[in-house]
Amino acid sequence: MIKVEKLCYTYSDDTQALININVTFPQEHIFAIMGLSGSGKTTLLNCLARFLKPQQGIISLNDKNIQDMTEHDFRSAVGVVFQHLNLFPHLTVLENMTLAPCRTQKRARDEAKKSALEMLDRLGIPELAENYPSQVSGGQAQRVAIARGLMLKPDIMLLDEPTSALDPKTTMEFAQWLRELQCDTSFIIVTHDLPFAENVAARGMYMSDGEVKEFGLINDILTHVRKV
Ligand code: ADP
Ligand code: MG
Repeated sequence: MIKVEKLCYTYSDDTQALININVTFPQEHIFAIMGLSGSGKTTLLNCLARFLKPQQGIISLNDKNIQDMTEHDFRSAVGVVFQHLNLFPHLTVLENMTLAPCRTQKRARDEAKKSALEMLDRLGIPELAENYPSQVSGGQAQRVAIARGLMLKPDIMLLDEPTSALDPKTTMEFAQWLRELQCDTSFIIVTHDLPFAENVAARGMYMSDGEVKEFGLINDILTHVRKV
């Protein structure tokens, strides 16, 4: 479980991107962080992912300060899929998926390949194994990036704007796919796309100007937000 206390983040040009954030993320299959562009969502995600070091406040994962965790322990617990997916263009889907397990977890190539194939099967995209990233659609690339992240079996996976490159129809198919995903990983999804959030998650929070303005059931949040 991730707990954020009194978190503040200010960029070097004095932009206060996060102002006193206090949240405990519930153990939820999918939790959505919503808000307009510029509200601080990506900054928060980057703090949760330990890519930015906040000037103030504490983020803890199962009661451990994430700053005190080793790189290995932290990266095995928390996975990230960025807005730009960073799939390696010269590697097939299967090779993209086995790279980190072989390099960082020192898993045997054959064993990693077998579990990658099982993962693709479980995620309903076995036909993509031998394709290169340029040969898959935007929606498929999102699924591949998530499949690759799940290979490391994180407890939590952070996704930043996963639907930003998808059209509305593909977005809804992707939402359904994520919702039905059976895995032990919890997802925290940053999105400015409210219909997507509504479709994919039951709970979430809404940020504005670096602060958390709403927290709870998505339907309640959206009712409030849409009235303003
Ligand atoms: P969101 O993801 O909700 O669009 P961001 O976290 O990217 O919001 O941005 C929050 C605020 O921080 C915005 O005012 C943005 O302009 C500013 N910001 C983001 N990245 C930087 C940066 N690298 N340097 C300075 N200001 C930044
Ligand atoms: Mg963003």
